[in-house]
Formats: sequence, C-alpha cells, structure tokens
Amino acid sequence: MKTYSTIPGRERSRIIPCNICGGRRSRRILESRDYTFVRCSDCGLCFQNPQPVFDDLKVRYGQNYFEYELRNEENFFHLMKLGLRDIHFFQRTSAPYQSRKFLDVGCATGMLLEHMRERGWKVQGVELCRESAEHGIRKRKLDIFIGTLEQAGFPDSSFPVVHFSHLIEHVPDPKAFFLEVRRILAPGGYVVVVTPNIDGLQARLFRERWRSAIADHLTLFSKKTLRRMLAATGYQVLQTVTWGGLAKGSVPAGVKHPVDFLAKRAGFGDVVLVLARKPDIETPDIETG
Ligand SMILES: [Zn+2]
Repeated sequence: MKTYSTIPGRERSRIIPCNICGGRRSRRILESRDYTFVRCSDCGLCFQNPQPVFDDLKVRYGQNYFEYELRNEENFFHLMKLGLRDIHFFQRTSAPYQSRKFLDVGCATGMLLEHMRERGWKVQGVELCRESAEHGIRKRKLDIFIGTLEQAGFPDSSFPVVHFSHLIEHVPDPKAFFLEVRRILAPGGYVVVVTPNIDGLQARLFRERWRSAIADHLTLFSKKTLRRMLAATGYQVLQTVTWGGLAKGSVPAGVKHPVDFLAKRAGFGDVVLVLARKPDIETPDIETG
C-alpha cells in the first residue's frame, strides 16, 4: 500500500537546482502522471523536478491529512519509538547536565511528545496541519506551534534535541530547514531524522509503485545523500541505520522476516534514520530552570 498522498491538482511548478550542491545536471529516475523525480548528476540527490510550488501544496495538509495521521498515530508512534531505541537515544541523553527539552517538528497529533513528556522531558511541537495540531493541543494539552519551523522563530540554541520523522521529504527547501534546525539546536545538541530510503530494497524493486514514490514527497534521500546534506549544513553524523525490507502483506512472513533482517544489516532498509549533532563549540547546555 502507498503512503497517503493527495492527487495533484493545478499546482504551479518550476524547475529547481539541486538543493545540496546547486547542480543543474540530472537524469530522470521515476516518472508518473503525478510527478517526475530526477537524480542530481553531481551529488546524487533525488528530488521532484519540476517541483510544485509549496504555497500551492500547503492546502494538502488539511482535514483528510489529519484523518490519515489520526488513523495511523499508534503505528507511527511505535515505529518512532523503535527508531529511538535503535540509536540508543535514551542512553545518549541521560547525562544529568543536559536540559531535557525535546522538539518534534511535524509532530502530527502529538503522540510521541506525550510519551516524551511522561519520560520527564519538556516538550514542544511544530505542525503545519492545523487539524492535527489542534487535536494534540486539545486532547493532550501539548504546546504545538501551528505553521512551519521557520515561522515558529525559536531562539538560538534553545533545544538539546530536535526530532523529525517523515517530515524532511515534504519540505520544499531541506537545506534551509537543516540550517534553521542547527540555529535552534544547543551546541552539542542532537538531531534525529527519519525519512524513506530511495536506495532501499523496496524503492529498487517497486520503482514508481514504491509506497514512498508519491507527489507529496519533494525530496527522496538515501543514506549517502542525507549524510551529505548534514555535512553540508554543519553537522557531525554519529549513526545511520535503515530498516524494513519488504512491505507487510507483499510476501509471506517466512520470506519477509529474513529479508527484513538482511536489508537492515546491509543498509537496504526502506527507511533511513540518521542521528547527528551540532558541533560542541561552547560550554554544555546547563539546566537552570
Ligand atoms: Zn547535487
């Protein structure tokens, strides 16, 4: 099954350069009625080109999107928890000097934020879909900014951890986004990124039928291009993992389990997770409040 995606309407679109290296040479890799994805000939980044203008795309994140997020919140939350476990997140952030503030960008209905709050973190969220954010604010009493990260305008160096899962592939200018995250991260702070893996087994097998090859995804990263982007925006990459070999129900469980295991071991999983950090150039962030 494909990830939820809106059917493209009459969005304006334009030709853009590569978001990592600025290159303009590329070749088409995935084509359908709804999109054209290209791969940059210089750095390998895959992105929609021509790319729909984001002002026209914003309307997609409305009531239908909220209903999709709400239907799947348990499932997405479970996967995010497994991801955090894979990178030993709780062990890494257990040092007593760290301020325990956790920002989730694209927090949807806020299930992960609620869980982190129960674990003693001060939590904040950012969510573009008004209906999802209002659900989290009302039902979970969460502090969620409705809009984009840039619009939230958080102060410099204000978070020791910024997390975003299945968000960066929707962002029109990922480089600007990573730079903004770096600005609001405390020195030595962690960033946790989860996104579909264009070099994964499923992407290679299913191509245009891959569940993540959809019009709502503007950039499709791989382990290599995500690491390249993080290096270009001033982060140190600490760990990269991938997981998920074959989609549930696509093959018998007896085939799926060993393939999933091998895909993870070999780095061909369907989703890539990177843990990186902002270089520690100043004193550690000391909790004063
Ligand atoms: Zn490039």
